[in-house]
Amino acid sequence: DNDLNPSRTTQGLKDFVGKTAFVTGAGNGIGRAAAKLFAARGASVAVVDLNPETGMQTVNQIQAEGGTAIFIRADVSSEEAVEAAVQQTVATFGGLHCAFNNAGFTGQYVGFHTLSLEDWNRLIAVNLTSVFLCMKHQIAHMLKAGGGSIVNTSSGAGVVGAPGMPHYTAAKHGVLGLVKVAAKEFIGQNIRVNAICPGVTDTPMLRTFAGEGTELERALVSSLPGGRMGRPEEIAEAAVWLSSDAASFVSGESMLVDAASVCR
Ligand code: ADP
Repeated sequence: DNDLNPSRTTQGLKDFVGKTAFVTGAGNGIGRAAAKLFAARGASVAVVDLNPETGMQTVNQIQAEGGTAIFIRADVSSEEAVEAAVQQTVATFGGLHCAFNNAGFTGQYVGFHTLSLEDWNRLIAVNLTSVFLCMKHQIAHMLKAGGGSIVNTSSGAGVVGAPGMPHYTAAKHGVLGLVKVAAKEFIGQNIRVNAICPGVTDTPMLRTFAGEGTELERALVSSLPGGRMGRPEEIAEAAVWLSSDAASFVSGESMLVDAASVCR
């Protein structure tokens, strides 16, 4: 089974035993799949999300499978909330080894010339400033702890322009800028920093505008070279691999996980 319909996962590995993973946007989609994979592989997981209902669902699913997780409610665009979430993770689990900064939203498709400053500011706050804030406080801890790994969620729109999404495109390009700076600054302190760039992924976020059976869904899928969307679990595999010791010589990288959609 080596086609675009994989049945394999790395859930059986236990390479994160004794480690703590901090996952934002873990109440849904890619973040939830990554939180569950980190936990299956042995990590204690801080499930960070704005939404307590979906966040607690993730925690319950992890615990039902015998894993360890806590929910931390945080708006990742607030520095106080991010700092407190990092502190609570360290206080609860005694460390923070891996961070996956993934929370975000897509925003509406807009005409460039009609995008309001308010919509611009909000999307930049949640998709870019949040990554800066998370990295800032995670790195502060990792410097004291002797190292760690950070993975941020960028996008295909972090590599090429996405028409109708100037704010999203700018934010996701910005995430790669932060990765490049931090990777160079902190590799000497044993901190690796990378990004994943997911393609179109079947998440609740995507379903809010491309519902099942809609014209938009059909148009979207037919534009994809592989003829299907990614599953959150497939994106999570890349994020968790970059977080793992198997990727010990990888830093400053942005990995497209999009079945040849962008092909830079
Ligand atoms: P995807 O999986 O494609 O990243 P989703 O919408 O399915 O998209 O998941 C994004 C997650 O990020 C949601 O659980 C959402 O609650 C969370 N989120 C969105 N904005 C914030 C925020 N400001 N702070 C924390 N979490 C957020």
